Amino acid sequence: MSFADIIGQEAASASLRASVKNEAVPQAYLFVGPESVGKMRAAAEMAKTLCCLNRALGGDDACDTCVNCTRIEADQHPDVRRIAPDGEQTKIWQLWTRSGHPPGALETLHFAPVAAPRRIFIIERAETLNEEAANSLLKALEEPPPYAHFILCAPSQSGVLPTILSRCQVVRFRQVATGVIAGALAARRGLSPTEAGVLSAYAGGAPGRAFRLADVPELREQRAALLEIAARIGETERIGAFRLAEDLRGAAKTKIKKGDEDGDSERTARGDIVRAVDVLTAWYRDLLSLSLRGNDAPIVHEELREAAGRAAHRYRPEQIAENLETLLKFRRHLLRNANTQLATEVLMLRLVPRKAA
Ligand SMILES: [Zn+2]
Repeated sequence: MSFADIIGQEAASASLRASVKNEAVPQAYLFVGPESVGKMRAAAEMAKTLCCLNRALGGDDACDTCVNCTRIEADQHPDVRRIAPDGEQTKIWQLWTRSGHPPGALETLHFAPVAAPRRIFIIERAETLNEEAANSLLKALEEPPPYAHFILCAPSQSGVLPTILSRCQVVRFRQVATGVIAGALAARRGLSPTEAGVLSAYAGGAPGRAFRLADVPELREQRAALLEIAARIGETERIGAFRLAEDLRGAAKTKIKKGDEDGDSERTARGDIVRAVDVLTAWYRDLLSLSLRGNDAPIVHEELREAAGRAAHRYRPEQIAENLETLLKFRRHLLRNANTQLATEVLMLRLVPRKAA
């Protein structure tokens, strides 16, 4: 992997490479942008580039083959530490050693690096630092040793303590266009344009999410199960809505092991339902397209065109549009701590077709 492999973040990559080339790398970065758009990938590339044994003066990319590059890529380098939240928070013992816990990652800060020219601390999801941890990090950022670099990552600047923010150079990462993600999926995973189109449509602008959908078979199976439920909604009467809600909650449950997925929000039961809602939303978008533009209209779920066509005919176009609106509202409602059982039941009651008057 190199900077050139980071999908759709040309501006961020160019600015990072320029700072390496000019030997003007700040000691603290804050990479800001949505989940799974490439922040951690860029942090790893930056660490490799700074530690690479083969990079000539004025070079701006890592060789990817020296011992430092390969160890950093495998997250096995003694001078490069990644710190991820423990549950919902990043806590003080993860930074500084506290009794009853493994050694804190920052304990090495004041020792010269052992295998690389620098020491690099990558803090994933810096917005989860609790107050104690954030204050102690601030102290480290105030007077870092000359060989130390910090790369903090966060979805936005607003979750980061202003005093920490003021010590960091901010680099922005953006949502990536669906077409760009589809192109990368086709090129790197050999997916057909149709498959790549479906997965990129689900990625919400985050290439990391699209590649997980391609690489984790359980996620593919889950999507198929959710689409099956989506197709059943159009054939169900109000009385069947509770059963649909139960099936939806069952199918939404993440069956994959920790580490295969995104950060915390996506691992919770609520996160599971949100993902299921995204599948339903994509389905109703297809129905709307078919309903308004006819059977040959472009849709995401090409492989389900026939079933989608049948489902589209069970609704009036206005009702499909209403259902999309309902899903959007439901998603927001859910993110504000709604009870998932009750909420999914109400949702299904609203989505099933209404009998013509
Ligand atoms: Zn190297």
